[in-house]
Parts: sequence; C-alpha cells; structure tokens
Amino acid sequence: MSSGTANERRFAAVVAGGGPAGLFAAWKLAQAGHRVHVLEREEVLGGLAASVRRGANVYAYGTHHLHSPDPAQIAPFQDLVGAELVALERRLKIKFMDRFYPYPLSARDLLLGMPPALMIGSLFSLGRALLGRGARGEPENAEEAIIRLYGRKLYDLMFRDYTARFWGVPVERISKTFVDKRMPGINAIEKLKRLLARARLISAARLGKTAVIGSGAMHTTARGVGPVFEALGDAIRRLGGAVETGTEVAAVLCDGDRVRAVVCRSAAGEREIPCDLLVSTIPIPHLGQRLRPAPPAPVLAAANRLGFRALLVVALLVRPKRRLDALFTYFPDRVFHRLAEVAGPPAQVHPPECSILVAELTCDEGDAVWNDPEAARAAVVEDLVAEGLIDRGGVLETHCLKAAHAYPRYALGFESDLESLLEHVRGYANLTSTGRQGAFQFTSMVPSMHLAWRQTQELLQRMGSHPARWKE
Ligand SMILES: Cc1cc2nc3c(=O)[nH]c(=O)nc-3n(C[C@H](O)[C@H](O)[C@H](O)COP(=O)(O)OP(=O)(O)OC[C@H]3O[C@@H](n4cnc5c(N)ncnc54)[C@H](O)[C@@H]3O)c2cc1C
Repeated sequence: MSSGTANERRFAAVVAGGGPAGLFAAWKLAQAGHRVHVLEREEVLGGLAASVRRGANVYAYGTHHLHSPDPAQIAPFQDLVGAELVALERRLKIKFMDRFYPYPLSARDLLLGMPPALMIGSLFSLGRALLGRGARGEPENAEEAIIRLYGRKLYDLMFRDYTARFWGVPVERISKTFVDKRMPGINAIEKLKRLLARARLISAARLGKTAVIGSGAMHTTARGVGPVFEALGDAIRRLGGAVETGTEVAAVLCDGDRVRAVVCRSAAGEREIPCDLLVSTIPIPHLGQRLRPAPPAPVLAAANRLGFRALLVVALLVRPKRRLDALFTYFPDRVFHRLAEVAGPPAQVHPPECSILVAELTCDEGDAVWNDPEAARAAVVEDLVAEGLIDRGGVLETHCLKAAHAYPRYALGFESDLESLLEHVRGYANLTSTGRQGAFQFTSMVPSMHLAWRQTQELLQRMGSHPARWKE
C-alpha cells in the first residue's frame, strides 16, 4: 500500500474518530501527501466539540470555545472558516459564598469574601500546609494533595464537596494525578508560594503542581465551534482523503506487531479497510477491547477498569434573554456545576429575543441522571428559578444531550492500568493512540489536536517516513 522512495513513503492511514484530534491529525497527514480515511461513529463531526442541530437552533455538549495562549495556533482555523470565527474576551465567573467573582478566584476575592474568623482560620491552615506541618512522603490521594496545597480549611470550604460531586466519589478515592494535571490553582496563592520559596522560607517541594486552566481569547462562530470541524472534514476531502460519519470502528485486525486493517460498521453493514498505519483517537480502553487478536488477559482487565465520567447537558431555550455577565459561571452548590448562556453575537438564536441556557451535569453512564434526563431537567429548572435566572413559564424548549466519555476518570490506582495498556499499544509498529480520549488526558481542543499530530509524526518517523515532508 505504501509508495514512494524510502524517505518519501506515502502511507494509507486510517484515523479512528472524527473529533478535533482525529480531524487535525488526518488533515496534517493529508497535507503531507498520505492517503487518509477518517471513520467517525456519530453522524456529525467534532466529537465532544460538535455542534448539533435541534429544531431551529444549534446546541453543544457543554460550553466550547477554541482557545490557545499562542494566536498562531488559532490562525489555521481562521483560514478555514474565515470571518465566521469570532474572538471573545475570556470572562468567566464563579459563585462563592453567595457572590459572583471572576474565575479563577483571586486570593484577594477569596479572603475578602469570607467572614473574618473564617479568613483567619483559612490563613492559619494554609500557613501550616505551606510549612509542611503533618505532611510526610508523597500524598496518597487527591484529598491529601489538595490539603497540602491549600490547607484543610480551604479544602473543606472550596474543594471537597464540589470535587466529590463532580466525580461522584469521595475525594480520597481520586488519584493525586488529577490534582497535578487538572486542578485549577488559586493564582495568587501560587504566586505567594513562589515568593516564599524564592526567599527560602518554604521548600520548593511545597509548590506542588496545579493546572493552568486555559488562557487567550475564546473563539467561536454563530453555530458554536462545530463549523471548524466541518471545515476540517471538507479540507481533508479536498486533499483526496475520505471522511465517513455514522461509521464505527468495530475491530482492529493485527498480524504480529502490525495493524493490517480495521473492521468498520455502518448502516450499510461491516467491511474491512486495510491500512499501513492507524491513528486511534477513540477512548483507549475501547481500542484495547477492539484489538484482534485480543491483548493478554491482564491488559484487557486493565482496559476494562479504566473509565470515564459522563456528561448530561440540559439546554433550555428561554425568553427573555438572561444576559449572564460571563461566558460561563461555576456553581459549587447547584445540580449543574457550570452554566453558560448562548445569546450572541456571534451566536444566532431563534427566536432572536430568546437565549439558550446550557447547564452541565456530570454523571455516570447508566446512573439515575443518565437514565432519567427529565428528572434532571426538572432539577435544573428548580435551581435556575432559585437563582432568579428564569421564570418557570419562560422555558420554550428543552434539549438534553449526553456524552458518555466526557472526562477520563483518574480513580485511585488508574496509572498502572493506563501504563499497562499504553505499553501494549506501543508494542505495535504502526499504531498510535492519541488525543484526549486516546491518551486518556484532560486536554482542551488545541492541545488535543497538537498532541495527536505530534504523536502521529513520531509514529511516521518510527515507520521510516521523512520529517521534511511534514508541515507544522
Ligand atoms: C463539557 C466540556 C466542555 C469543554 N469545553 C472546551 C472548551 O471550551 N475549549 C476547549 O478547548 N476544550 C473544551 N473541552 C475539551 C474538548 O472537548 C476536548 O479537548 C476535545 O473534544 C478532544 O478531542 P478528541 O478528538 O481527542 O476527543 P473527542 O472530541 O471525544 O473525539 C473522539 C471521537 O471519536 C469518536 N469515536 C469514539 N468511538 C469510536 C469508534 N469506535 N469508531 C469511530 N469513532 C469513534 C467519537 O464519536 C468522537 O467523535 C470541553 C470538554 C467538555 C467535556
């Protein structure tokens, strides 16, 4: 199947998954002269970032904006969709002690928002944590890791209930890796810690790690970010690639250490697509379960133990517009953890005097929230009424959207399961499992796309294709 000289080999690549990561890697592969075939299970491209039409409006799996600290990473998408892609100011809020503050919460807002006795107690407990009182060795779980970063008082006040509700388990059952990779830091406290460490008043080990939760302007179109991925699909087709929707990768057929074909399933039936290489962006446990011959039993068991937290989105078309003063707002004590309003511009809502309130609820596939969206919808409406954001009679339409694989679940001990599965996948000479789902990482869209292309380039290099042909 491959052609060209040793340095310029062109491969037939199958890309499993037509979300941001798969489409970006496929586009780059097609630009580099390889023959690509994207297989997407859903009818719409874009994965978690897809725009889905319901009635006269477009809805999404929660709030999605393209963002990157580096404008050069947004430029290719501006070229693809043109002026339709609009930059919005990054304005996020959080409700804390019954008031709304900019998010991430600054130390000043945090401390001044508290009654004085609580503030003094929190500072005392933070000081103890910074000086490392009572902490020995590595933290055993996310609870210990957060307490070491912020002290017990702030943990109880801000993190314990929200984190447990988001994940559906007590915080001590979550791995500390979650805190390193995805816990939003309290910026000003991080700055204070760095100053104290520089003055050698606390050890550098006390700095810990917390994630930077995005930066740069937020980009979207009148129909959400879905059009970016439709445009990527069109660009791949223009370069001679195939992009199939409604087509699920059902099995991955291997000969020894090589993938030789994928079996895909669509309304037309099952068929085999031979390939030189496979870039898989589907959830990595699903890849493990689809490999034929099947991986050794311990690897398969590890794949079966890795899981995802699901998402139910309750989107309400409401009249009149609410004009929430932020792109989205975090609510620590409502059934939804995050709320956004789609009111435009650039969004176009029909009828124009309405807006769409998008409430995000985490859940598990098959639990009460997942199985009974009507009850969840009623609870969301109750909370919105209690917040003074809607009148019961103002809801014109409701649409519930479900995503089973919204967040990789960093359960205690998941690291060894993931490593065992990754090691098995690395054993194939022409396979990479990448993107947010394929690497089991908490990456946003742009990092997911760049991860997928970087790991695809590494695979090409291993397979003997020349880097000069790859364009960034
Ligand atoms: C609520 C929420 C809000 C978010 N907001 C933002 C935001 O504002 N900005 C941002 O940058 N990021 C945001 N993200 C993160 C963003 O959604 C992800 O980074 C991005 O979607 C990852 O792309 P991906 O291609 O790796 O995975 P996905 O988007 O999950 O795509 C994987 C694709 O594989 C397909 N697939 C699965 N199994 C199969 C199979 N067997 N055969 C064929 N196809 C299959 C799926 O249908 C899907 O299309 C948000 C995430 C969530 C959950």
